[in-house]
Amino acid sequence: MNTTCILDGHAMGMRNARSMETIGGHNINNTASRMSLQAKAESSVVTKYVWATRDGHTVESAHLQFRTREYDSLCISSQIGCAMKCAFCATGLQGIVRNLTGDEIILQVNGMLGDTQYPARGLEVSFTGMGEPLLNFSAVKSALEHISPDMRVVISTVGIAPGIRKLVGLRMTNLQLRVSLHAPNDELRTELMPITRQYPIGEVLAAAVEYADTLRTRVVLNYVLLKDVNDAEAHAEELVGLLNGLPVRLRLSRFSPVSETGFAESANHHAFEQICAQGGLDVYQFHSLGTEIGAGMGQFRHYRPEAPAPWASRVTRNADLVAV
Ligand code: SF4
Repeated sequence: MNTTCILDGHAMGMRNARSMETIGGHNINNTASRMSLQAKAESSVVTKYVWATRDGHTVESAHLQFRTREYDSLCISSQIGCAMKCAFCATGLQGIVRNLTGDEIILQVNGMLGDTQYPARGLEVSFTGMGEPLLNFSAVKSALEHISPDMRVVISTVGIAPGIRKLVGLRMTNLQLRVSLHAPNDELRTELMPITRQYPIGEVLAAAVEYADTLRTRVVLNYVLLKDVNDAEAHAEELVGLLNGLPVRLRLSRFSPVSETGFAESANHHAFEQICAQGGLDVYQFHSLGTEIGAGMGQFRHYRPEAPAPWASRVTRNADLVAV
């Protein structure tokens, strides 16, 4: 990689040179993968960033400050759009445009660090934005090489079993694997996540257990509770039967509204959690941050410049950084 500016026309990394040092001491500049900050939106604990790529698309990232944690989380995208078509996700409904390069992935991290004061707290880099990271494995792996082993990393996947096994090979002890489950059986999961046809739950869990056993950790299984879809007592009981004894933690997530999906947030979180806990599962609840600015789980989207984000008039636009 060369040493020219990081973000098209505006050297955010140079503006805050510390950000370059914090990503494992590597120089992450690359003229071939420039991006510019197009817009950002802020809530009290989340800043959402919209980056314009050189070929006229956008990707979104977010800096989240969880009050209950000792570290900030930088949520980044690995693809422009996504081919997985998860039924509850805005990104999935838009389809895939292309993979991001490794540089475009890490530029999101550097751009966010360059835009804010580097937090005194620890940092987590979380591949939980747009795209399925394990379907862009080489670029994600390249980006991971620029992240210090001291930083936490999260990779969230729909359960691409061969990709999970490749992750096993990386032996990253600072990496938390998060697998989207969202249903206790293949029939319902196929409705929510069509990828289940290719990787049924049994195959996904087998790969997750291999990951957990090899890395001596537990894999987090994400389960978004959707009203009248997957949130019945019977679903919780089925989950208990499916997961009991496995090296996993079950994360019950609140649905972040995406109006065109037709789904609604469940009111059964507490009862669902109780059944899972009483059945012996390690279970906890998760509240997405930033839903009011479209930065919650499954709310990221991509836009063309000629069809800008409908919320663009509401965001803080930093004219100095716009180079679309
Ligand atoms: S939830 Fe993740 S994997 Fe599924 S469509 Fe959305 S971005 Fe893709």
